[in-house]
Amino acid sequence: MGTLLIKQVTLNGEKKDILIEGNKIGKIADEINVSADEVISGENMTAIPGLYNMHTHSAMTLMRGCLEDAPLFEWLDEVWRLEKHIDPEAIYWGTKLACIEMIKCGVTCFLDLYWFIDTAVKAVEETGMRANLSYTILGGGDAEKEARQVRECQEIYEKSKSWSDRVQFSVGIHAGYTVAEETMLWATNFAVDHDLLIHTHLSETEKEVKDSIELYGVSPVKRFKRLGMLSDRVIAAHGVWLDEEDIEILGNRRVTITHNINSNLKLSSGYMFKYKELKAAGANVVFGTDGTASSNNLDVLESMKTSALMQKAWRKDPGAMPLQEIMDMATKDSAKALRINSGEIVEGKLADIVLVNTKSAAFTPNYNFLANLIYSANSSCVDTVICDGKVIMRNRVIPGEEEVLENAARMAAKLAKNL
Ligand SMILES: [Zn+2]
Repeated sequence: MGTLLIKQVTLNGEKKDILIEGNKIGKIADEINVSADEVISGENMTAIPGLYNMHTHSAMTLMRGCLEDAPLFEWLDEVWRLEKHIDPEAIYWGTKLACIEMIKCGVTCFLDLYWFIDTAVKAVEETGMRANLSYTILGGGDAEKEARQVRECQEIYEKSKSWSDRVQFSVGIHAGYTVAEETMLWATNFAVDHDLLIHTHLSETEKEVKDSIELYGVSPVKRFKRLGMLSDRVIAAHGVWLDEEDIEILGNRRVTITHNINSNLKLSSGYMFKYKELKAAGANVVFGTDGTASSNNLDVLESMKTSALMQKAWRKDPGAMPLQEIMDMATKDSAKALRINSGEIVEGKLADIVLVNTKSAAFTPNYNFLANLIYSANSSCVDTVICDGKVIMRNRVIPGEEEVLENAARMAAKLAKNL
């Protein structure tokens, strides 16, 4: 079992030594005197738990900037047209590019909803991150395609049993408007039978809600409830358009809602996210970036800042999203949703730790570290990233980064021929 010792790092405002044994945090003390396999100096560094990106489509990095200034449904048509040309090689390099970008932003774990996850898993495993990869079911009215996806979902679930402990499998139901009801019910039962999480998009746009009421007589949330799909195993992206009853349902069922403010703002989907109401009702609220074709980057730290600013602005309440709550949402609340023993720097938890370099203007003076981290700095303050007890970025250097950039650019050039 390898050991890694972080010496005299700032943790919750105090200088500490952190000893990592294997993939767990073994001991935290004022001083630890052991001869570890590897020692990292914590000078000018503050340790925070690794951040979580709780909703993304990672290999969409290859479509960054492909269609700008368009509304969601027009944008989706273009994305779906381009996706027809995506192959496993593109997924591999696109996912690797996403991992590099996320590690540089201090993310150690992400929840992904995309294609060819049996290829994406290889990219994730090689970068050393954690992830939960959702098999995407999206028939779009094509029953044959959906039947094929149902078979493939089961096959890949079987294969996922050989994945490392760092990568989980989940069931992805793209959205209530792209999957047939009977398939959504199959997927829900499959998830329950195998104790898997369900990842979906829910109430993202006003149009989605209006269409649902027109077609089914109820909002997407009430429809999901009626179908018996909602529980604490559901992680639903967006939840921008919710009425009081929707919020009560999501709270009662302990659903996790991923707030993707940058994507919502950029696609003009909405911004009056009911954070306080959802939290008060009992829902678990976390942050995501969405894919880079809509949000353009995978910077969770930026999402945290934008989310808080938007809450303060539209509610006219500067206390609408307090600093510690923002941090908890991006770390331990996310870990709880993914059922991972991480998200906090305490003994016995998995060692997913980010070292933030505080020797910069953004952290001077350092009256309030969280305020500096969220409102003053940007993700270039992330210096070193440890995931599962292993250093995956040191001094902002990730091994193999250049090769990934070159190959991802090559894949994007191939894809661009279809633009
Ligand atoms: Zn999405």
